[in-house]
Amino acid sequence: MFFHVILTTRCNSKCQYCYGEALEDIDSDFSETQVDYSLPARINYNINLLAHFCGADPECIVTFYGGEPLLCTDEIKQIIDNVKAKHFMIQTNGLLLGCLEPEYVNRFHTILVSVDGDEALTDSYRGKGTFRKVIDNLKLIKRNGFDGELIARMTVMEQTEIYRQVTWLVSNKEFPFTSIHWQLNAAFWKNDFQRREFKSWSQENYNPSIVKLAKFWVNKMEKEGKVLKLYPLLGIARSLLSNEKESLLRCGGGWINYAIQTDGCIVPCPTMWGMKNYYLGHIRNANPLKLPKVFVNQPCTKCDVFNVCGGRCLYANVTNRWSQEAYNLVCTTVRNMIKAVEDELPGIRELMGKGRISVEDFDYMKYNGCEIIP
Ligand code: SF4
Ligand code: SF4
Repeated sequence: MFFHVILTTRCNSKCQYCYGEALEDIDSDFSETQVDYSLPARINYNINLLAHFCGADPECIVTFYGGEPLLCTDEIKQIIDNVKAKHFMIQTNGLLLGCLEPEYVNRFHTILVSVDGDEALTDSYRGKGTFRKVIDNLKLIKRNGFDGELIARMTVMEQTEIYRQVTWLVSNKEFPFTSIHWQLNAAFWKNDFQRREFKSWSQENYNPSIVKLAKFWVNKMEKEGKVLKLYPLLGIARSLLSNEKESLLRCGGGWINYAIQTDGCIVPCPTMWGMKNYYLGHIRNANPLKLPKVFVNQPCTKCDVFNVCGGRCLYANVTNRWSQEAYNLVCTTVRNMIKAVEDELPGIRELMGKGRISVEDFDYMKYNGCEIIP
């Protein structure tokens, strides 16, 4: 099982799509869902409880999460020292990566770091100077011996030209990434659709760019014999190549991937912190292998691409932050991406036939924090 351990609800950044949107969204209600806004700012349970909880699952994987988890370096060290997990991972904005000693950083199997693309774009979403600080920290941890997987995690919205930004992250000379994931800022907030240009951007910019990106990806395979871990394309391609049917959420939220709040309560995913109707137990007495499961409902369960998409996002599905009409645009991006990968499959199969790449090149650690469907 995978557990996002939310170390703090605080963050040291004020990103446009998180802090900015939260300010605009402050009055919106969650209809039937009761939300506890008064969770402790930092974990208030004894770390032995977490050790005992995780100890009941020999395959337990812990991902440090926040807010910004690196505001809690003491807790990270205590958890790494005392909790028996198969792997530790972290999702961080990267600003404080230099503050954790290398002996701990080097224990991370995977670091997912928020980088939205080049310096201008990252700084425009995340604040001036962010990109430089993060890249300097990434260079530092590499120098200090970190050799796990480093995933650039992009949040994508209207200012992003996805083809240009992903290819830049792959090809830039200063710090090229081989693992990249992106998530659309879509249907997380109640009142943003009306003030945004999501419709025209997704139709005229994002969707055609994804088709181009899929071609770039396969081109790289052909020229360099390398399958880049562009997670949305990789996950879909792997499913299609192996005829895998994904009728469960591909992020794992609510069935194999859960989140532990700062008060020790367990929720289906980190975005659902405080949603009392979805509290699934507490680490003090829950069995990690027997947690209740939560699944997406309609319209996903009746959708013709459900077995590739898996339902995209439980939070979006249960909270209905966007109208059905608006959400259909998101589903169109999913369909477009599946089609873009399907169209490249003959080329991929041909490269496999020639031995240029192999099916194993599409392997990855599932549920590692990359939701696959953006
Ligand atoms: S495409 Fe849309 S409706 Fe279909 S399964 Fe995915 S999220 Fe659900
Ligand atoms: S995709 Fe949705 S349900 Fe899955 S982890 Fe992200 S916010 Fe949670």
